[in-house]
Amino acid sequence: MLKLQHISKQFDDKVVLDDISVEIGTGEIVSLLGPSGSGKTTLLNIILGLTRMDQGSIVFHDQDLSSVPMKKRGFNIVFQDYALFPNLNAYDNIVYGLRNKKGTVSEQEVQEYIDFLELQPHLKKRISELSGGQKQRVALARTLVTKPKILLLDEPLSALDGVIKESIKQRIQSIAREFKLTTIIVTHDPEEALTLSDKILIINQGKIAQFGTPQEIVHHPQDDFVKQFIIKQL
Ligand code: ATP
Repeated sequence: MLKLQHISKQFDDKVVLDDISVEIGTGEIVSLLGPSGSGKTTLLNIILGLTRMDQGSIVFHDQDLSSVPMKKRGFNIVFQDYALFPNLNAYDNIVYGLRNKKGTVSEQEVQEYIDFLELQPHLKKRISELSGGQKQRVALARTLVTKPKILLLDEPLSALDGVIKESIKQRIQSIAREFKLTTIIVTHDPEEALTLSDKILIINQGKIAQFGTPQEIVHHPQDDFVKQFIIKQL
């Protein structure tokens, strides 16, 4: 269980997050959904430990992580632009995060993630030779081999289209199920959030507009903002 409790954040004198509290169950996929500038990425970065919150706490399995630095939290992220190294091949990108962790993950385990994401035929290829969906799978593998306790994904589908988008969506769902991995996803696309997640946290101007299952949100939108935001874009 991950508990976000009363999280607030200001940049200069602008309140970006205002008293965010939610509980996320182990293995759940939760989307952070909201319009541009609503504070989604800031919240993701606070969970990761990249951005410091002004107030609030983050409790993971009863341990208060609020002042635990990013590297010691054991969470990991796939950035929106994947942040892969163009001068390394796919395999070297995948194992890059393990360079200082010799012996913590066996070669066999690395191969299991590679097989799971069907990357075997692409391991020797340079990043520029990969399609968008293949790059996303390499980025996912690179993060998964570090065995994160929570997987964070920033707009994982935004650069993909059609069939590839659907296939990555299914991969994300099977990763969460197979590894019982709590997965938190930033998206601005209601359709993506509704079809991908177990629960959706809708943020509007730094505040929680609604937190619930896709069904609850579609059938019982809490206010006009949620109604408009969800319906307008379906
Ligand atoms: P988008 O969908 O456009 O990425 P978002 O919902 O992820 O938006 P954030 O990136 O969290 O929103 O930004 C929320 C607000 O905080 C915006 O007004 C943004 O300009 C501001 N902001 C974010 N990071 C910083 C920073 N490092 N310094 C100052 N202001 C910031």
